Amino acid sequence: MENRFDIIIIGAGSTGVPLAYFLAKEGVKVLVIEKEKSPGQGSNKAAIGGIRATHSNPAKIVVGLKSIEIFKNWEMETGDNIEWYQGGYSFVTYRKSDEETLKELVRYQKNYGLNIDFLNRNDLLEKIPALNPYGLRGGTYSPEDGSASPLLAINSFYRHAVKHGTTFLFDAEVTGFTKNKHSIIEVKTTKGNFRGDIFINAAGAYASQIASMAELSIPVNPDSHEAGVTEPVKRFFDPMIVDIRPQEGSKNFYFYQHKTGQIIFCLTPYPSIWGFDVRETSEFLPQVARRMIEVVPKLVNIRVRRTWRGLYPMTPDGNPIVGFLEINNFLQLAGMCGQGFMLGPGLGFYLAKYLIGEKLDEVDLILREFNPGREFAKEEMLK
Ligand SMILES: Cc1cc2nc3c(=O)[nH]c(=O)nc-3n(C[C@H](O)[C@H](O)[C@H](O)COP(=O)(O)OP(=O)(O)OC[C@H]3O[C@@H](n4cnc5c(N)ncnc54)[C@H](O)[C@@H]3O)c2cc1C
Repeated sequence: MENRFDIIIIGAGSTGVPLAYFLAKEGVKVLVIEKEKSPGQGSNKAAIGGIRATHSNPAKIVVGLKSIEIFKNWEMETGDNIEWYQGGYSFVTYRKSDEETLKELVRYQKNYGLNIDFLNRNDLLEKIPALNPYGLRGGTYSPEDGSASPLLAINSFYRHAVKHGTTFLFDAEVTGFTKNKHSIIEVKTTKGNFRGDIFINAAGAYASQIASMAELSIPVNPDSHEAGVTEPVKRFFDPMIVDIRPQEGSKNFYFYQHKTGQIIFCLTPYPSIWGFDVRETSEFLPQVARRMIEVVPKLVNIRVRRTWRGLYPMTPDGNPIVGFLEINNFLQLAGMCGQGFMLGPGLGFYLAKYLIGEKLDEVDLILREFNPGREFAKEEMLK
């Protein structure tokens, strides 16, 4: 195997694989190094598949819109079915305080050209008749958001990246770097050392470990979240439903009906559960099931097939870390929090343009907002 590449990406996950694909399409010679035996085996396969542009950070909005365009056109362009379904998103509200927050956010999001509205109770019930009407005050509705299968998507990006000439090295763990003061010369792995012009840290929940191998510090911490899937049933609602009311043990939860009929759901634990433990718990299912049935009572009849647990690569402000920091040729593409699947393709598209030297306003915005050297003080509202 050759040992010199233009760009070396560490991590074949939600961000690394789409970036490899877009770079390879531009004719860049790329190596992706992955410690697991196939793509998507880190956080990517734990994601439930939600894809939205409805964020509170302008760079996330821009990236989200690009990702939606990519996911939506993917089957037409490549022939691969990734189970994209444009069912929209709805942040529902049963409390006055949430209603006010969401209405203010919708005004902001509209300024960025997002197709989103705050619907009153009756209009929302028309869109989602399955919602519990008691105490419902309304909610946001953004019909262009959607969902897809994280495993089908990453495998499709992987196959097309290979077709365009990307080399993937699986079952190879990055263990260190050889560097001088301001740049990396080579990356060391359990399967040999590789030289490159640019190195990219796309190691997800392990990104701060990879950074520290180059004596860099980035604040990415693994935060564990559980999810589950039901048996498939006839379609009875479209959007991803997000309930932001905190309750004992959890902050918010969200669920949607996948293109193939299953309800897929997830809950944000409170307090956060830090660490790398991905063993499912016995608390999650009763906790989330009770909350889901409160919002969509019909769910009481549907059987759950399985649950799993994975890691959010969290940052202190809920926004990703993207850009160069101290070392000239070591790009950080990390800290995707709960949104790496939806941000991966958009970020891959824009970063590929940036790395081949194209100037785009979107790239300036991304590098400014996600700057690795920022203060991490302005928190994303919908992280
Ligand atoms: C329950 C749950 C539900 C979620 N739902 C959604 C959702 O609906 N929508 C959404 O957008 N996001 C969702 N997410 C978040 C999403 O999964 C992550 O943000 C995303 O996968 C992170 O992408 P990444 O490329 O940074 O990391 P990963 O996809 O984890 O990729 C990093 C890769 O780096 C590899 N690696 C690490 N260390 C090394 C090393 N030393 N050497 C070589 N390789 C290494 C790992 O094995 C891994 O494959 C969810 C997450 C969880 C846990």
